[in-house]
Amino acid sequence: MTFAIHGLTVSRGIAIGRAVLVASSRVDVAHYFIDAADIATEIDRVRAGRDAVVDEIHRLQASVAHMGPKETSHELGAMLDVHLMLLQDAELINGVKHWITDRLYNAEWALTTQLEIIARYFDEMEDEYLRERKSDVEQIVERVLRAMQGTASPLVAQSSPRGLRKPSQQDLLLDDTVDVPLVLIAHDLSPADMLQFKQSVFAGFITDVGGKTSHTAIVARSMDIPAVVGTRSCSQLIRQDDWVIIDGDAGVVIVDPSPIILAEYGFKQRQVELERGRLTRLLHTPAVTLDGEKVQLLANIEMPEDAQAALKAGALGVGLFRSEFLFMGRQGHLPDEEEQYQAYKRAVEGMQGLPVTIRTVDIGADKPLDNSQRDTGHLNPALGLRAIRWSLADPAMFLTQLRAILRAAAHGQVHLLVPMLAHASEIRQTLAHIDHARAMLDNRGVLYGPVKLGAMIEIPAAALSVKLFLKHFDFLSIGTNDLIQYTLAIDRADESVAHLYDPLHPAVLRLVSETIAECRAQGKGVSVCGEMAGDVSLTRLLLGLGLRSFSMHPAQILAVKQEVLRSDTTKLGPWAQRVLVADDPAEVIATKGL
Ligand code: PEP
Ligand code: MG
Repeated sequence: MTFAIHGLTVSRGIAIGRAVLVASSRVDVAHYFIDAADIATEIDRVRAGRDAVVDEIHRLQASVAHMGPKETSHELGAMLDVHLMLLQDAELINGVKHWITDRLYNAEWALTTQLEIIARYFDEMEDEYLRERKSDVEQIVERVLRAMQGTASPLVAQSSPRGLRKPSQQDLLLDDTVDVPLVLIAHDLSPADMLQFKQSVFAGFITDVGGKTSHTAIVARSMDIPAVVGTRSCSQLIRQDDWVIIDGDAGVVIVDPSPIILAEYGFKQRQVELERGRLTRLLHTPAVTLDGEKVQLLANIEMPEDAQAALKAGALGVGLFRSEFLFMGRQGHLPDEEEQYQAYKRAVEGMQGLPVTIRTVDIGADKPLDNSQRDTGHLNPALGLRAIRWSLADPAMFLTQLRAILRAAAHGQVHLLVPMLAHASEIRQTLAHIDHARAMLDNRGVLYGPVKLGAMIEIPAAALSVKLFLKHFDFLSIGTNDLIQYTLAIDRADESVAHLYDPLHPAVLRLVSETIAECRAQGKGVSVCGEMAGDVSLTRLLLGLGLRSFSMHPAQILAVKQEVLRSDTTKLGPWAQRVLVADDPAEVIATKGL
């Protein structure tokens, strides 16, 4: 039966594919397709893992007999019996074989896919005792996965691109099971998980939780594949292998679509592709408005390798390199100076002489170092030890990063950007650390280069103290994602208040506008690097407010350029001032747009 689930638009476009449900705790399991020739090897890997766990349980059974009071050993013995039984369960074994043989999933993926299916059966059981057996299945799968660890195959990055092939209408209508795109469904995905999926086989993402500018959503956008977050219950309502359509523009997921709906969305999908194709004609066109104002379109990147996509999209530089992604998912082993230096150097060299703005690490809130280190100990992590606060709390770590950035600056134009500053004392400390890092490199006789210094304006207190910031920094970059979050007291990652997260709130617009105006008055550079910069519906407004530098995901650059080329800032200026003083700016934009 066809039904729709509503969520939040994150990443535009249409994806049509089969659902792959992944439990949040298991998203770090490798997902890739194997070659048909490796089916037997892959099944053997699961078998070997299972046999190892069976042996382990037999050994445990033998020792349990001599353990503690009789009831305890009896209870433990019964549990081990259940585990042994589950390990021999035909449903589990045949299911795993099916995913490997018929779908060419790697062993770990096959195992967790089948686990999701079995877990559903248990969830639906009336009997409480039986329902609770779900955790036994989860435990044994976990143990098999662990036993297989030593025999793991290469990870996602080496996946074949089979899963990315677009299905033909015939594929879809005939319900062909092989070679169709896959859509990932999860309760939650951390930014680090998303990064892992960057090279993956998935054609789209859907999650239960998350806001429009949560970092998970931002990474999905950077991957330029359709995604919907904040659906609340997709992971409960969608079953493994269901056909789903993600309408990224509307923030809607259609489950089990009828042939007519499929045909309609297939048509829409082709239209989106045609439009993208048309935009590529603008690749080499300079971004200049009708009245001759030059506009700088820059890229936001997460990894040095993204520099390639930035250049391909015609970016004139990197306006935001979120360096924290180098620090995530490493079980606490942070990158040392050499590793960071090499990474920044790759980004700088990758941009072939264009400027690269490296932001110092912004860990904390919805960007934990690791999934296991999510900040659950503090009531308001977004207001806690995050970004520059985290760096200043760990000077050795901060100095390591600063030295690496300064060294990379010897290879090209580097701008050093500091996130979440608010206090004069933080500015002083940061600048002192930068001087200290230079002195350390001098002492070691290591080469480094000059950097332009920038601060992010993402806290209202900072936006209201722009003059102070401009005394110390060469340029400012407005982080509207956080500026909106902190101005409106809306957690950007919380879907339950996402309807109140409003870039067009008059208070937000005033802070953005006054920051731009002050920078312009002082002849200092200013850009917006939050998601507002890549939102084509806001391009004219930002131009009208005087912004001439926009930094966004590479995939958004050409669409924004198209808006720039159609704009006349002599008209947009007075219009933007009217928007600014309106009670309801969105209404003015909608009804009296130029
Ligand atoms: C912002 O806050 O707008 C920004 C660009 O930084 P991040 O999204 O990484 O917090
Ligand atoms: Mg921010």
